[in-house]
Amino acid sequence: MAQFSKEELSFVEELPNDLKCPVCLNILTDPHLVSCCGHNFCGSCIERVKASNGSCPMCKEEEYQSFVDKKCLRIINGLEVYCSNKEKGCQWKGELKNMSTHLNKEKREGECQYEEAKCRYEKCQERKQRRYLKDHEDKECPQRLFQCQYCGEEGTFLSITKDHYEECRQYPVTCPNKCSSTNMPRGSLTAHINECPLEPVDCVFSWAGCNDKPLRKDVHVHTADTKHMTLLAVACGQLKKENEEMKKENEEMKKEIRENNDKIKKEMRQIRYAIPDYPLLPIKIARKNEPVHFYTGVGEHGVHMSAIVKGGNKKFTTEDVFLLLAFHEGKFEKYEPKIPKIIADDGFAKIPLMEDVKAPYKYLPHDILKNISDCDDNTDLEEGVIKIKVGTFSRGPNPAGIRFQRVTIKISFEL
Ligand SMILES: [Zn+2]
Ligand SMILES: [Zn+2]
Ligand SMILES: [Zn+2]
Ligand SMILES: [Zn+2]
Ligand SMILES: [Zn+2]
Ligand SMILES: [Zn+2]
Ligand SMILES: [Zn+2]
Ligand SMILES: [Zn+2]
Repeated sequence: MAQFSKEELSFVEELPNDLKCPVCLNILTDPHLVSCCGHNFCGSCIERVKASNGSCPMCKEEEYQSFVDKKCLRIINGLEVYCSNKEKGCQWKGELKNMSTHLNKEKREGECQYEEAKCRYEKCQERKQRRYLKDHEDKECPQRLFQCQYCGEEGTFLSITKDHYEECRQYPVTCPNKCSSTNMPRGSLTAHINECPLEPVDCVFSWAGCNDKPLRKDVHVHTADTKHMTLLAVACGQLKKENEEMKKENEEMKKEIRENNDKIKKEMRQIRYAIPDYPLLPIKIARKNEPVHFYTGVGEHGVHMSAIVKGGNKKFTTEDVFLLLAFHEGKFEKYEPKIPKIIADDGFAKIPLMEDVKAPYKYLPHDILKNISDCDDNTDLEEGVIKIKVGTFSRGPNPAGIRFQRVTIKISFEL
């Protein structure tokens, strides 16, 4: 029986000599028969002899053959043996051929309760006799299924008792201050510390400089300690000083505000002085000989200008009307000026004369427009004077509906 070592085999009756191998002197394993003298040898023993060109170990014949001896094998398999676990207490005995079934080696289940098998949990390497295996798996194995008895979390015995207990919120703990509170769930420890009579707390006069940490139960006794009087005196002195400093700062701020107010009032007075000596747009210009002076606005684009309405190209019943504009030096010109969007408004309709454009900017003498007589399409004007043709108008009352010549032009920003 190749599957058992000679140490595992224990025969009930003494082994007959012809079932022992003459070479190795043990029970025949894989019994072979030699053709020379009919003796039996282990298959491996006789092969070894043949390989070294040896003669038959029994009859010394040099030419022989060997065959598997199935009859001999049957006899050996029928021999009665004790269980290989006899020493451990197994009472089984039976034919050799049945022992492997009895042992069912390396399997968890099997007839022989003295055979060792591995624990069912993969991570556990423990080997136990079958009769002890269930107890190990159910009660001892660190890999067995286990539930935290405090919160119900499931895991292995090892993971629950080693790691989980360290963090379980329901795990019973004792107050670290050694007060009378024991067996409280870990999760409520923080709340307990906030009222534990043995927890050190800040003195109510910590703001005044007391760094003592009396136990919560002793706070009242500690608070009554007269040493706090000294601390309070110092702290009050400090507060008083700070209060005075704040008052002083307050006064300074008030003063600053007053000064700012005065400054603003003064500036406003100055602005009032700066009111221009000519009207601001919009203005109306009638057909007169005198030019009208005005400012286009106060501020960034405010500029001093003058305007006059002139006729020209006179025909029998009509003439053309022109608006002349000029820039002058003045108080308000600050930046590059723009001519405002000019609208001629004769009381019936608004005629856009000129879009908001940058002017060919040039300061001209104050009375430049006053000296211009009538003007027409071809009149040469001094550089910088802007000429805009307002339209063709009637020279007198006209039943045909052509506008009356005494047109009034309103110059304004288009809003
Ligand atoms: Zn042998
Ligand atoms: Zn022989
Ligand atoms: Zn057994
Ligand atoms: Zn185990
Ligand atoms: Zn738990
Ligand atoms: Zn406590
Ligand atoms: Zn204190
Ligand atoms: Zn002027």
